[in-house]
Amino acid sequence: MVMLTLVDSHCHIFDVKGYVPSEELVVVSSGYSHSTNVKNVELARRLDIPFSLGIAPQSVIGDHDLSALDEWVGFIRKNRPNAIGEIGLDYHWAKCDEDIKKEELVFRKMLDLAEEMKLPVVIHGRKATSDILDTFRMRNFELPIMMHFFAGSVSEAKWVAEKGDFISIPPLHSKERRSVIKEIPLENLLVESDAPYVVRKPEQVKDAVSYIAEVKELDFDTVAEQTTKNAHSFFKF
Ligand SMILES: [Zn+2]
Repeated sequence: MVMLTLVDSHCHIFDVKGYVPSEELVVVSSGYSHSTNVKNVELARRLDIPFSLGIAPQSVIGDHDLSALDEWVGFIRKNRPNAIGEIGLDYHWAKCDEDIKKEELVFRKMLDLAEEMKLPVVIHGRKATSDILDTFRMRNFELPIMMHFFAGSVSEAKWVAEKGDFISIPPLHSKERRSVIKEIPLENLLVESDAPYVVRKPEQVKDAVSYIAEVKELDFDTVAEQTTKNAHSFFKF
């Protein structure tokens, strides 16, 4: 029996309890703050897995001090990740204008860094998809984009796909996600667990593959194969 390799395009291995590496599942581990970036690099090197580093919007709001931002950027630059992420805007957790200003500042810095390093970006957008896409339009951003845990509309997903970029599907069902899966070509889809925050284990990414297979009326292996291929081309490993 031929074993298919799946790729979980977004999870946080350093936070997963009792993670056991497997040859059938490649995990792409993502940092979301300076301290998790440090843990992520250490673990990714040890496990020899692809990884991304970034400062996420939800980690810079409130009383978080940004005075070390340039050092955090320096750390990412030095450690050469496969992608910059997760980064973006989050209007769910932002409580005031001050928070949004901090998120925007950090997002801009992260996009600058991606452009400088010519790396793809992994985007976290909560209630902020349209502003994130506007940012890309205004900057003429040309590097590959992965919309992690995509929660925007079908028309926003189409814009991303038409640019040749990626929508990442978690193993959670919703009416909107179903329409997105239906309308977006398999060539523009990735799968993720976002473990341990959305589901507990990276292995549960299989449920995202099954979800796509069911909606698109394809078999599991076809979806597994294409999303794996997509992940390889996006993260370059
Ligand atoms: Zn995540």
